[in-house]
Amino acid sequence: MGILEGKKGLILGVANDKSIAWGVTQACKREGAELGFNYLGEMLEKRVRPLAESMDATLIEPLDVSDDAQMDGFFEMVEKKWGKLDFLVHSIAFANKDALKGNFRDTSRADFQLALDISAYSFIACAQRASKLMSEGGSMVTMSYLGAVRAVPNYNVMGVAKAALEASTRYLAQDLGRDGIRVNAVSAGPIRTLAASAVGDFRKLMDKSARGSMLGRNVSQEEVGNTTAYLLSDMASGVSGEVHYVDNGFHVGAGDPGIE
Ligand code: NAD
Repeated sequence: MGILEGKKGLILGVANDKSIAWGVTQACKREGAELGFNYLGEMLEKRVRPLAESMDATLIEPLDVSDDAQMDGFFEMVEKKWGKLDFLVHSIAFANKDALKGNFRDTSRADFQLALDISAYSFIACAQRASKLMSEGGSMVTMSYLGAVRAVPNYNVMGVAKAALEASTRYLAQDLGRDGIRVNAVSAGPIRTLAASAVGDFRKLMDKSARGSMLGRNVSQEEVGNTTAYLLSDMASGVSGEVHYVDNGFHVGAGDPGIE
């Protein structure tokens, strides 16, 4: 029997089969969960719907997390279809490409607000609505990166957004803990995805991360998926408010993600 058998969960942030959320999906499906998905706009629906259907998804709905009305509608749909929710995966981030290269000091107010809104506030907005459906307790996981706690070249405003996301994880964990809801973040090592391709010199960052990690290689989306499935399951019933690194030990080694 899988560790997520009998649980219903939302996986937000699949864009294609390279997405970290897709690695999470495969692990959750293998462990027995019933899954629901969102997609951002019609363009992505074409990619996401067949992927979701291949996982026997019982819920596939549009959701732009920057739109409060869509957020309300999405979670109302979840309540109507499922009645309850056991877990939520938030694997969503966005920043303007220009803000992810060059000098951090040049970050505009608009780019700051956009990155923080989509990449950090949206987790709070999801948690607010999802927690109402978790009357029997639940688990939420979001995706972070080392740039939250270290200044990584080019990661810039996204690092600030991830710092806000990690702090939000702790505050949400505190708020929701007495309702039996656990909230954690996974801090993943770099993986080649659509979102990652927006970060300047990402290839160099990947090379450095592989060389500087304890296992001497980069992580896979499957590895991030497996750890996330564990955090979503009752196997992690004593874990909340945590930032769990899945980076082959890079963050505790002497390696440097910086680019010479
Ligand atoms: P991805 O491009 O596959 O996923 C990003 C997702 O965010 C997409 O599905 C996109 O549709 C969604 N999104 C963006 N704006 C949205 C909006 N307004 N409403 C709804 N959805 C929106 O890339 P990924 O690398 O799998 O990213 C997933 C998460 O993992 C992000 O939070 C990212 O910062 C984080 N992360 C990525 C890496 C990496 O190296 N790839 C490392 C650590 C953490």
